[in-house]
Order: sequence, then C-alpha cells, then structure tokens
Amino acid sequence: MERTFLDMPDSQGYFGEYGGQLIPPQLKAVMDDINTAYDQVRQTAAFQDELAELYAHYVGRPSPIFYAKRLSQRQGGARIVLKREDLNHTGAHKINHCLGEALLAKHMGKTKVLAETGAGQHGVALASACALVGIDCEIHMGEIDIAKEHPNVVKMKILGCKLVPVTRGTRTLKDAVDSAFEEYLKDPVNFIYAIGSVVGPHPFPKMVRDFQSIVGREARAQCLTQHGRLPDMVVACVGGGSNAMGIFTEFLPDEAVQLVGVEPAGKGLDTPDHAATMARGTKGAIHGFACYTLQDAQGEPLPVYSIASGLDYPGVGPQHCYLKDIGRVNYESITDDECLDAFMTLSRTEGIIPALESAHAVAYAMKVAKTMSPEQTILVNLSGRGDKDADFVSQKLGL
Ligand SMILES: *Cc1c(COP(=O)(O)O)cnc(C)c1O
Repeated sequence: MERTFLDMPDSQGYFGEYGGQLIPPQLKAVMDDINTAYDQVRQTAAFQDELAELYAHYVGRPSPIFYAKRLSQRQGGARIVLKREDLNHTGAHKINHCLGEALLAKHMGKTKVLAETGAGQHGVALASACALVGIDCEIHMGEIDIAKEHPNVVKMKILGCKLVPVTRGTRTLKDAVDSAFEEYLKDPVNFIYAIGSVVGPHPFPKMVRDFQSIVGREARAQCLTQHGRLPDMVVACVGGGSNAMGIFTEFLPDEAVQLVGVEPAGKGLDTPDHAATMARGTKGAIHGFACYTLQDAQGEPLPVYSIASGLDYPGVGPQHCYLKDIGRVNYESITDDECLDAFMTLSRTEGIIPALESAHAVAYAMKVAKTMSPEQTILVNLSGRGDKDADFVSQKLGL
C-alpha cells in the first residue's frame, strides 16, 4: 500500500475530504496546541514507556486472542478468533485511549479533564484513568441516562469524578455533549475535553486511533505466532469507530486481509430506528469535523437508535469515511435481533458474555463464516464485556 495511506491525516487533520477542524478560531488555536504537544510528547521515550507500563500492568495487556472453537464448529466454515478487549481493566477497549488522554492532559499541565457520557462506559474508563494519573475529572450525563445506568453512575462517584446531571432538552447524550462543551469553553486553555472515540476536531481522530492501535499491533503479531498466518478477515463494530480503527490500523497495508466495520441496523435500515451512518448517511459535518452523517435537510443530526447505546451516534470517524470511499474497508450492518442472537450464542457456546456493541461484530462473523472455508480465519474485535447489558438482555428475553 502506498505510504500516503499510512501518513494520514494531513497537517490540517484531513483524511481525504473528511475530518479537519470545523470550529471557531479560538478553539482551533487550542486544538493546534494539543496537536503540537501530542506530536512532541508521543516521540519521547518517557511517554511511551509510561503508557507501555500502564498498558501492561494496569490494563493487563496484551489481551489474548482466543479461538472460539465451539462457535466456529456450530456455524460451519471459517475459524472465528476473538481479540479479548473485554478482559481489559474496566471491561472494554476504551481504557486504551482514556489513559493516553489523561497522560497527555497531565503532561500539558491541564487542570481538569471534561467529557460527556451516554451509557457511562466512557465516563467510567475516563474517571479510572484520571484517578490513576491524579487529575480532576468532570463528567456530564443526562438525567435520563443517570436513572438508567445506575451501576456506572455509582462507579464514577466512587472513582472520585464530579458527575454533573444534565436536566435540559431530552436529558440524554446529545444534551450532555452540549453541557460539557459549554463548561469546556469557560477555560479551554486549562481544561481539556477528552473525546471518547475517533471523532471530533483534529487532532482527536488521530490521537485516539494511535492510542487504540495497540490492539491491532498485538493481534497481528499474535495471529502470526499462534496461527502462523494473518487472518483472512478482521471484523469490528463501529459507533464512532475507535475499536475498529484500533484493530484495523496495523492491517491496513496487508491488502489480502479484508476489513469489515459493522454498524447497527437497529430495527432495520428501512425504519428510522438505526444508526447505520455509512449505509444511510450523506456527506456532512458534526461535532467539529466532516464525515458521513445521518442528517435532515437542514444538516441537523437525525435521532439515531441502537440496542447497543455505545453504537448510537449519527456521525462516524473521518478515517472510516475515507477508508470506505477508497474501498479498503467494507461497512456492513447488523440488526438488534441478530445482535441479541449473537449475544446469547457466544455466551452459551464459549462462556463469554459480550457487550451488545461487540455482539454486532460477532453476529457478522457468524453470518459470513458460513460462506468461507475451514482453512480461513476471521479475527473479531471483542471490544467489551457484557456485564453492563446482562440485566437488560435477561428482561428483554424473559430469562
Ligand atoms: C463505546 C463502545 C463501543 C463503540 O465505540 P467505538 O468508538 O466505535 O469503538 C464499542 N464497544 C464497546 C464495548 C464500547 O464500550
């Protein structure tokens, strides 16, 4: 693959026509500072060693790859191998970039890390990273979500972050973003807004990708040592797209390896209740960057839906948009029903309860495995564990 491909984004933060900094000049200056500090610090051995140390002894990296033998045999066809990000401390891949962001904040002498959270997963990972690094953390969360996500709310409080309930508007994620962002604008020089995926203005899509790319670096090496060859296909779910970019990045130059991002089709692509940005979105902008979005005629984000709240986003990371256009990654979608089926099937064939987000990737692998040969391998990024979803699923299925 030509080098330009891996040199992305360009100096303005563009991946082709996507990304950039669609923000007021005052904020652009702050983002440029973050970019400069990041480019500088990530080169240093001190920063790399500290992050590597935390990945190893705090997160528990490398996470294993695991051949899901009973699942593969049940489906027939390709071997399904899981990258076990569900085994990380705090239960998902998010800790990989939260640690990077918290360390950068500390390095830059920021006084407070700010973020919003929907279901609370980003909030818990960030609050943990901030407690560890020793920096103040403030999380904004809609009142409706606070009522729904009790275990994560309690965890964030125990971890010592300031939890700000958001009472305006729909009292959910969108209003939490607005509220946290207003607080950030009070002092963007001293505060930092820790974005939870490969989205937002430059340099966040680049930084979050870099912090997550450990997943693919490990997985590629593990496939070579343990299976003697690269996988034929790598599959990951896509909300904003951080776990997918994390596992895809190292495989981008391996042209023989097919890469598949799986979006939530919710109740069906032909209903309004989905969040399939690639399948149904158009070129637009959201949260300070250009990407495919699900938008109305005025360019306002449409309400989106998925059974997995972590996939419920009307935009998608700019690098994914570029990779779709050049055809390097295929984007497919999985419905709520297929996701629930994969959730139960993985639990009962392998004794692994996946996050509903990750179950989308598992569901796609289960479907496509049947069309492949037993000599072929599908590597699935199991982005998180399903403890958070167990009550919901058992109620839904009447277990
Ligand atoms: C948040 C989350 C996701 C979705 O985020 P991406 O940025 O698309 O990876 C996927 N899986 C789990 C377990 C999550 O917590």
